[in-house]
Amino acid sequence: MARLRTTAQPSGHTVLVVDDDDALRSTLCRLLEVDGHEVLSAASGEQAIELCRGRDVHIMLLDYFMPGMTGEDVVKAVRTFDPKVQIVLQTGYASEKPPRQMLRELDIQGYHDKSEGPDKLLVWVDAALKTYRHVRALHASRSGLEYILKATPELHRLQPLDDLLLGILLQIQGLLGFTSAVLAVLTPGHEALAISGAVLTAERQEFTLRIGTGRFGHTDWALLTPEEQALIRSAVESGQAHLGPKVILPLKAGERTLGVVMVDNPAQSSGDLHLLEIFAAQAAVAVENARLYSLATVDDLTGLMNKRAWVARLQETVQLAARHAFSTSVLVLDLDHFKAINDTYGHLAGDHVLAALGICVQQQLRRSDVAGRYGGEELVVLLPHTPAAGALIIAERLRAAIEQLRLHWNGQEITVTVSIGIASLPHQFVQVPEDLVIDIFARADEALYEAKRQGRNRVVQHVATGSGALQDQRTLLC
Ligand code: GH3
Ligand code: MG
Ligand code: MG
Repeated sequence: MARLRTTAQPSGHTVLVVDDDDALRSTLCRLLEVDGHEVLSAASGEQAIELCRGRDVHIMLLDYFMPGMTGEDVVKAVRTFDPKVQIVLQTGYASEKPPRQMLRELDIQGYHDKSEGPDKLLVWVDAALKTYRHVRALHASRSGLEYILKATPELHRLQPLDDLLLGILLQIQGLLGFTSAVLAVLTPGHEALAISGAVLTAERQEFTLRIGTGRFGHTDWALLTPEEQALIRSAVESGQAHLGPKVILPLKAGERTLGVVMVDNPAQSSGDLHLLEIFAAQAAVAVENARLYSLATVDDLTGLMNKRAWVARLQETVQLAARHAFSTSVLVLDLDHFKAINDTYGHLAGDHVLAALGICVQQQLRRSDVAGRYGGEELVVLLPHTPAAGALIIAERLRAAIEQLRLHWNGQEITVTVSIGIASLPHQFVQVPEDLVIDIFARADEALYEAKRQGRNRVVQHVATGSGALQDQRTLLC
C-alpha cells in the first residue's frame, strides 16, 4: 500500500480538539498529527477544561454545539485561568451568531465554518500558532521584567563585590534558566596579588573572574578556552556585544566597560537576549556601586578593611555583643622589625610584604571574622562570637602561618614574624558599649606591647576578670 502521508517533525505545539462528534474529532486529530503537533482530544466542554488545566495547551479547536457546555461556555471558563491558549471556534450551522459578532464578543482568535472543509481549518490553525508564539514571547518578557524588577533591590544592596558577582550569576540562571554563565569584571590598578587563581594580568588589563558552570562552582580563567578568553577580551575592549554560539554582553557604566557576562546562546528567542541586556545594565550599576563601596571600605594595599570601616564594624559588633551577651575578641598584629625590612630591601618590598600578609591573614580566617589594616604595619582582626580560648587558637594559627611565609623580592627570600595581642569582652558587662570598644582595643594593644617586650613573634592574651577593667594579669603563650 502506498504511503500517502509522512509524519512531520514534532512542531513543539500542543493542540486540543474538542468535539462531541467522534468521527469528526478523530479525522481532525489525524490531520493535525501529520503536521507534527501533539494532539489532545475531548468529547465535551467539561473534559476540555480539565485538559486545559492539566496541560499546556497552545491551540484549542472548539465545537460550538455540544451536549452540556457550549463552546461559548468553555471559552469563558478557560479564560478565567488561561489567557494564552488560542481558540478557534467551529460550528456546522450558519444560523448561529454571525462570525464577526462571535469574534468581537468572545475572546477567540478564529472562527471556522465546518462546511468549508478541513483545509481552511488548517489555515486557521497555522495563523493561531503564529499568534500563540507572539503571545508566549510577550508573556515571557513580562514575567522576565517582573523578575528583574524583583531582583534589582537585591543587586543594589551594599555588599562585597564577590557576593554581588555570585548573586548576579544566580539571578541570570533564575532569569533565563541557563546552565552556565561567566561573569568577568576588570580590576583596574592592581598588581596580580589580588585574589589567587582568579586573576589575569592581560597587558594593561586585569580580570577578576568568577565563573559559574552548572551549579556555579567557582573556577578560574585558565579553564576558559583560548577562544572564550579572546572573545571576552575583545568585548571588553570594544564595549560591543558578541552574538554567536556564546553570547557576550558588556557590563557598562556610562561609556566605561566594567566587564562582561557570557552565556550559552539562548536558542529560544531574541526576547531572552533583550531581557539579558536589561539585566546586564542593572548588574553593571550594581558592580560599579560595589566598587565604590569597596573603595570606601577596603585598604588598597592589603585588601583588608580600612581603619574607618573596621572600627565601625567593631562598634556594631560590640553593641550587639553587649545586648545579646555573646563573646567577642579582638587581635592586634604588628610586624616585628618591619623598619629593618624597608631599610634592607626598600619600601616597595615592604609594601609587597604587607600585601602578602593581608592575603595570608584572610586565608586563615572564617568568613565572619573581620580583618582590617589599622595603620602602617599594624593589622587588626575582629572575631565575633569567639571567646578568649578560641581567639588564642586563631591568633597562634596566624602567628605560625606568617612565620612560615616565604616571600620573594628581587630574587631574595624574605621572612617575617608578627607579635599579636588579644583581648576579649568579659561575660558580664558593667560598661556602656562605647567604653567597651575603647577598653577592648586598649587591652589588646597593651597585650601586643607585652608581646613585643617579651621578645616578639609571640601571642599574648590580656585576661580580664569580670569587670572589664584593665588587669595586670597576662598570659604568656609563646
Ligand atoms: P617592632 O617590632 O617594634 O614593631 O619594630 P618595627 O620596625 O616594625 O616598628 P617601627 O614602628 O619602628 O617601624 C614601623 C615601620 O613600618 C616604619 C614604617 O616605615 C613602616 N611602614 C608603615 N607603613 C608602611 C607601608 O605602608 N609600607 C611600607 N613599606 N612600610 C610601612
Ligand atoms: Mg612593627
Ligand atoms: Mg608598628
